[in-house]
Amino acid sequence: MNITINKAQSLKQKPDESKLGFGIHFTDHMLNMDYNLDSGWHNPRIEPYGPIAMDPSTMVLHYGQAVFEGLKGYRNADGGIQLFRPQANFKRINRSCRALCIPEMDEATLLDSLKELLRIEKDWVPSAPGTSLYIRPTVISTDPFLGVRASHTYRYFLILCPVGAYYAEGFNPIKILVTREHVRAVRGGLGESKTPGNYAASLLAGEMAHKEGYAQVLWLDGVEQKYVEEVGSMNIFFVIDDELITPMLNGSILPGVTRDSVLALARSWKMKVSERRISIDEVMGAHASGHLKEIFGSGTAAVISPVGELKYGDKVIKVGDGGVGPLSRKFFDTISAIQYGRAQDPFGWVEPV
Ligand SMILES: *Cc1c(COP(=O)(O)O)cnc(C)c1O
Repeated sequence: MNITINKAQSLKQKPDESKLGFGIHFTDHMLNMDYNLDSGWHNPRIEPYGPIAMDPSTMVLHYGQAVFEGLKGYRNADGGIQLFRPQANFKRINRSCRALCIPEMDEATLLDSLKELLRIEKDWVPSAPGTSLYIRPTVISTDPFLGVRASHTYRYFLILCPVGAYYAEGFNPIKILVTREHVRAVRGGLGESKTPGNYAASLLAGEMAHKEGYAQVLWLDGVEQKYVEEVGSMNIFFVIDDELITPMLNGSILPGVTRDSVLALARSWKMKVSERRISIDEVMGAHASGHLKEIFGSGTAAVISPVGELKYGDKVIKVGDGGVGPLSRKFFDTISAIQYGRAQDPFGWVEPV
């Protein structure tokens, strides 16, 4: 598909790379593409970044028929820009689309248009250590209609956001709270889709955890509240003796690209790897008997987030010595080095722009 380009009249001032934060600054341009029943997905275009005017009755505002993605662009040592497994994100957005009755998009068009935008916005990719360009593709339903059904029109848009180093003050373990009061998703629902509703469903439990001094919520399964699912916006891993365990993709867990990358690396290192059900009782038991070595989360934003403390009911456990475990560090270092082009890429994960 042909991508039309309409450049901004004036460009913004770039933010200070040492104060980027997350989700605060946006670049000069964005991608847009429309869907209607007659033309299907059409008119991919690069336009100045700006507001989207909507009728107040626009369906997405009422029923949340929307999906999104999150990936990053990295500045490599040669000054070039590279993406990490973008094909996996575009495959996943289509999978989320199917679950929310949104028409699928052509994945080659999504990747080509992103690269085109990145070539125009290349000066926005920061180069300070640990910084990157966060990429947020989104699809929203746009019919001005209050009946409950799938929309007949949609807008795809993609925005870019330079982001700071996640671990500016060093690689820090987080504290997580296991919630028994709330559930995030159930099998057959939207848990395996990247859709705003999952985040809406997580806010109250998240706020309650914050009040108690915990950074994230560890979700248990929605039926029995027995098996571990995931943590905040990350998948979760446990190291028990020499076994690396992560909950299997059971229909209510988001299939993370970082999760998949950790599993591929662990298998290439000939580790004992299990994708299986793991109950919270097994985790607490492994800690009590001294077999629980590490817990860490995996996701695009932080790559690896070591867990230093976990609270379940009235029990609080310290994981390992409460610091950063050796495997957490090894996965973080290896994946980051591939993302920034400092290490070999044996899996073909890196996509040059
Ligand atoms: C995006 C997301 C993840 C992590 O996926 P990555 O592809 O590794 O970034 C995990 N859980 C939820 C609920 C998510 O939305």
